[in-house]
Amino acid sequence: MSRIISPGIFRRSKIKAFFTTKKSASAGRTISALTDIPENRIYKPVQKHTDNVIVVGYDMKPRVADAVLTRRKGILVGVSVADCVPVLVYDPVRMVCGSVHAGWRGTAKGILKNTLDVMTGEFFSNPSDIIMAIGPAIRWCCYSVGIEVLESVMSSTGDGDYHTKSGNRICLDLSSANRQQALSMGVDESKIWMSDECTYCYPERYYSYRYSRGSMGRQGGFIGMFTD
Ligand SMILES: [Zn+2]
Repeated sequence: MSRIISPGIFRRSKIKAFFTTKKSASAGRTISALTDIPENRIYKPVQKHTDNVIVVGYDMKPRVADAVLTRRKGILVGVSVADCVPVLVYDPVRMVCGSVHAGWRGTAKGILKNTLDVMTGEFFSNPSDIIMAIGPAIRWCCYSVGIEVLESVMSSTGDGDYHTKSGNRICLDLSSANRQQALSMGVDESKIWMSDECTYCYPERYYSYRYSRGSMGRQGGFIGMFTD
């Protein structure tokens, strides 16, 4: 079982960008051992299902946010997830990268759109330059929700091909909803990589909050710009 998933879309970039599995989890110490990056150069925000986007530079103190961007080279920024959607973003022109945690609440609040807003507004990113990877999360097959959850996600995402019905169940695909949010912001379809694995379908490979009914384990998504 591999410890790391490296989206092919970043292959030509001078960055480290990867998703972890149950085996590698998301603790700073483990990620440090895996990457040879010192633990004090690995930043994870205090996640609270908010729509806060922070920019991290030399001040690495923990702050409440569910998306973290950086222009600083030599650090990794990451999020922890177990069913929620981890998204990695990178603009190779403006040299900014980041990591986003999007559960249904974050998706309903438009956390990924907020992240892209900061990239375009503060760092002058052109959305069509942005490369994006959407990591393993709970998918349509295993994520049935109430109508109020679907409606709140639709309020930020618009309608689209990210939900379906199976009998009386509403099946929601947050990965596709986030993909749709990115497309609506002008990200190029060909620059979005999306995992096809479902965390609930592969409990031996991934932590799944729903499968384990609330286990504390998490995998992660990490990204950073390095010169070598
Ligand atoms: Zn599934």
